Amino acid sequence: MRSTQIRSTFLDFFTARGHRQVPSSSLVSPDPELLLTNAGMNQFKPYYLGRTTPDFRRATTLQKCARTGDLDNVGRTARHVTFFEMLGNFSFGDYFKEETTAWAWELITEGFGLPRDRLWITVYEDDDEAERLWRRLGVPGERIQRLGKADNYWSMGMAGPCGPSSEIHYDRGPAYGPGGGPAVDGERYLELWNLVFMQDVRDEDFRIVGELPARSIDTGLGVDRLAIVLQDVPDIFHTDLLLPILETVRELAGGGDDTSLKIVADHARAAAFLIADGVLPSGDGRGYVLRRLLRRAIRHARLLGVDEAVLPALTGAVVDLHGTTWPELETARPLIEKVVTAEEEGFARTLRQGSRILDTAIRERRLSPKVAFDLHDTYGFPFDLTVDAARAAGLTVDEDAFAALLAERRRRSRSGRTEPGRGPRPGSGTTAFVGYDATRAEARLRTILRDGV
Ligand code: ATP
Ligand code: MG
Ligand code: MG
Ligand code: MG
Repeated sequence: MRSTQIRSTFLDFFTARGHRQVPSSSLVSPDPELLLTNAGMNQFKPYYLGRTTPDFRRATTLQKCARTGDLDNVGRTARHVTFFEMLGNFSFGDYFKEETTAWAWELITEGFGLPRDRLWITVYEDDDEAERLWRRLGVPGERIQRLGKADNYWSMGMAGPCGPSSEIHYDRGPAYGPGGGPAVDGERYLELWNLVFMQDVRDEDFRIVGELPARSIDTGLGVDRLAIVLQDVPDIFHTDLLLPILETVRELAGGGDDTSLKIVADHARAAAFLIADGVLPSGDGRGYVLRRLLRRAIRHARLLGVDEAVLPALTGAVVDLHGTTWPELETARPLIEKVVTAEEEGFARTLRQGSRILDTAIRERRLSPKVAFDLHDTYGFPFDLTVDAARAAGLTVDEDAFAALLAERRRRSRSGRTEPGRGPRPGSGTTAFVGYDATRAEARLRTILRDGV
């Protein structure tokens, strides 16, 4: 089944069951607490919080989502990308668990025709009701697993509605890893669909303080994920949503490292969608997210041995592929081309200068946090690229020391003490090669860079 049919099958199914089809919101999140839209429910948050009452109680959407938190997973897992499409059905104080589970099961097994014996269900450890409903639908007990708060309980990151969730996973078979169900981490069981049952209310301290008067539903099914299964391909990059872009990268590069090819394809796609929604590269906020995606794509294209510009051709391929489903891409085609061309030209200069310094530092084994910081501060050479290069050479950079230098830099520029060499430079003398956690460093960096450097 092609992605076009995946989208329409889902939306038609819920439209036929009384759901209003609401357009995707922009990737520039309508929720001020969030930089970029990361789920279908974002645009409905005021309804769940009871701040606004919609004139419909059931909705279904195809939502553009961005998750830069998954940046490091791209090309490393079969299932993560930084931009994807999420299908969802929503109830605002209308139907609840029973309809949600029954419809999900009907759609996934009949509408999409997935074999029942390949499907696994996870439920929240206390949610007896959900387990009972799944059993009633014919799911055998041995393929229902109970998981704790971290996996199967959802809340908004603020006081308000929250509740247990239940997820549908697909068993891709022993070729993809050990058995044991989705409770076992790995690539064999592919999470497809998350059903959230909003029934509780929590306070600021994550204490559940009562029941939600209008119990609600929020679900999210990844189009790209379902396409992996329905198109019987090894990973998300081989679905019809990404393969033509990956092939374009491969042609430009003439082959090369698989992870780099995938990173370039993913980032080009995400960048095109972000620009179409009005994001422009800059030093902070969303603009920084975009800049980082663009620069990471360029860096990996260089690693693949391509020295000329790649992004204009690649983002063009994204518009060719997705412009019918997402007309805003077509409208923004000239803008996208202009933005990525300018960014790639500017970054090519940065890379030439920065890479020389970085490569020498790596060769001479003196890649200290100070070197990483100077690269960032003086040449605009992104820290995550330094980290990538260090990792490729089997080295690590002390991210805490780097973050301290960055924080100190910000303090100094705020207080006007900008003369070089003056004032404390914490961490500048620390040893270079200590343990490094990429995810933690990225999270920390995002926090620091969000409000500008
Ligand atoms: P995972 O555990 O695989 O990282 P998740 O639990 O973070 O997924 P949810 O927040 O439950 O994902 O989002 C709902 C659905 O959106 C997922 O079940 C999946 O189909 C899809 N999805 C989530 N993250 C991604 C991603 N990075 N790339 C593609 N699809 C995604
Ligand atoms: Mg995730
Ligand atoms: Mg999950
Ligand atoms: Mg999930």
